[in-house]
Amino acid sequence: MKREGKEKIAVIGGGIAGLTAGIYALRAGFEVEIFEKNTIPGGECIGWNRKGYHIDNCIHWLTGTKKGTEMYEVWTKTGALSEDMQYAPIDAFYISTYNGKSVTLWNDLKRTERELIEASPEDEEEIRHFIQAVEYSKQCVFPAGKPMEMWGIKDYIRMGASMKDFPKVMKEFGKISLEEYSRRFHSPLLRKMICDYLPKEYAAYSFLVSYATMADGNGGIPMGASLQMSLRMEKTFKELGGVIRYNRSVDEIVLDGSTATGVKFTDGSFVEADYVIPTVDTHILFHKLLPEKYMPRELRGAYDAPKTYPVTSGFQVAYAVSTEFKRGETIFIEIDPIRIGSREFGRMYVKAYGYDPVCVKDGKQVIQTCLSQSDEDYEYWKSLDKDEYRSVKEALVREVSRRIEEAFPELAGDLEFLDAWTPLTYERYMHAYHGSYMSFVTTPGGRQIKMKGTLKGIRNLYIAGQWINSPGGLPVAAASGKFAIQRILKKQRRDINI
Ligand SMILES: Cc1cc2nc3c(=O)[nH]c(=O)nc-3n(C[C@H](O)[C@H](O)[C@H](O)COP(=O)(O)OP(=O)(O)OC[C@H]3O[C@@H](n4cnc5c(N)ncnc54)[C@H](O)[C@@H]3O)c2cc1C
Repeated sequence: MKREGKEKIAVIGGGIAGLTAGIYALRAGFEVEIFEKNTIPGGECIGWNRKGYHIDNCIHWLTGTKKGTEMYEVWTKTGALSEDMQYAPIDAFYISTYNGKSVTLWNDLKRTERELIEASPEDEEEIRHFIQAVEYSKQCVFPAGKPMEMWGIKDYIRMGASMKDFPKVMKEFGKISLEEYSRRFHSPLLRKMICDYLPKEYAAYSFLVSYATMADGNGGIPMGASLQMSLRMEKTFKELGGVIRYNRSVDEIVLDGSTATGVKFTDGSFVEADYVIPTVDTHILFHKLLPEKYMPRELRGAYDAPKTYPVTSGFQVAYAVSTEFKRGETIFIEIDPIRIGSREFGRMYVKAYGYDPVCVKDGKQVIQTCLSQSDEDYEYWKSLDKDEYRSVKEALVREVSRRIEEAFPELAGDLEFLDAWTPLTYERYMHAYHGSYMSFVTTPGGRQIKMKGTLKGIRNLYIAGQWINSPGGLPVAAASGKFAIQRILKKQRRDINI
């Protein structure tokens, strides 16, 4: 039976993709209800309080903070950013240290070049080449205007002209891993620096693009922390008339023949809709909300080949410290190896959040650290029973604290433990596959996952969320939400410019 009034869209998940889809749907005149399993919006883009301190757990850089870019328009239309937004006064991507020496990847590329050459004169040629590649990578600006299948010849020409040097980067760095790339440098410190930020299996170009985004002033950190950004988007959504239901975990997408007709909950209740937009992790989508047979082949292939399509998570710890930490915001250190399961970790970072008053209380600031976690580490955490999990976590916190105090003696005795979390935390809270807070890592052997967001055999279902376009991240999530609405509008032969 056809319902009366506006056409209704049911969005599953109130993260960045779900909120963006909701806002664009309202702008296009639909009625929207978002169903979110948690009690707050934001999904992975959140933070939480411990002992009165705010632990910010997402934005290290937000692609699209540069005015005039398509992504900036998405962020402003959704209320994530505004014209008068203040950004963290951070002038470097990160610092790497090794054997008592350090180098900094400044936002100012010339300054980085000088500093790296000074640190390792024998690598001068490779360093200049690196800086040139980062410069070229500034041209790789995230296209958020419309889905690529809607691009016309003019769009391709425009894109080609604005990215004329970037293909050189892809040709040289698209098919080598960061680890492989790092071996071109003689200096052990520079080798570490190349592999510090992203997992070393990542295709090298990902790192170049990430650094270029920061260096180009297109990767700022909005002041007020990640949760506040999600709350601003929730506010925009509500002000436009959207309804968001918390503590509402969707159990099933209901199909009537080959048409999605609404969503069903654990208690058996059903909400009818003209369109359904799931934004949840695709593993949950095709193992719980929809029959597995609908999973596209490329996605199945990725889940079946974790070596080529790994995912990444973290073992993270947060502290409050009273010491003014003057070593830079994000600093990677060499540590006496820490063992988690069967793997050893010899590097970790310390990030100081004192730049944002939200993360400072009574003169103490929050600092965090992270040991990057893989599929294998996830399996290890999963194999522990409840008591083992707790005691392993506690023991690791002790080890991590000791390493921080060894690297930064000024922090000895000053670390007030706030919280520790693991890949299982992300699995529990966000239903994240293997605890991954990004989509599949782009490795040299794998192909980028690029789904169109529709499924063969199901009508009125439009998928969004970071998993449909690896390697994921906030811009991918937001753009996918917007694209889902544009796809619906296109099908209805309506204007897609919203
Ligand atoms: C520590 C950390 C650092 C990060 N740093 C950055 C960064 O610097 N830059 C960047 O671009 N990205 C970063 N990210 C990644 C970024 O947070 C994610 O890419 C993005 O938030 C994903 O958004 P999403 O909406 O696609 O998915 P999610 O955030 O996972 O949203 C999905 C939502 O669906 C809900 N849900 C799941 N199952 C159901 C169900 N059955 N019913 C109802 N609701 C359900 C979940 O609770 C969740 O709220 C980081 C993430 C983390 C955790």
